[in-house]
Amino acid sequence: MELPKQVKVGGLIYEILAQPDLMRETDHIGTTKHANLLVTVDATVPLQVQQSTLLHELLHCISNVYLNPDNLTEEQAYHLEGGLFQVLRDNSEVTAFILGGMNGSQ
Ligand SMILES: [Zn+2]
Repeated sequence: MELPKQVKVGGLIYEILAQPDLMRETDHIGTTKHANLLVTVDATVPLQVQQSTLLHELLHCISNVYLNPDNLTEEQAYHLEGGLFQVLRDNSEVTAFILGGMNGSQ
């Protein structure tokens, strides 16, 4: 499963870039540069780590668009990442209900 290429948040479209060895080079698994509308995720870590990291970066994007200027702190984003990742993955019926009707499926 590959990282998606872009994500729309509010009226902004962020590009998602899979970058090998990002963590080794920057000590971060993911980064977001709002000014460049660019989300970067290390493509060499295990898939679940990529998925959780993308969710984390999306929380920063959502914060930038919908909470600005009261953006989430790094700690808040970290905790929400963990909570959302667990709840969405461990409750497939809830996740399907929330996403029901998207992309033509119900
Ligand atoms: Zn962060």
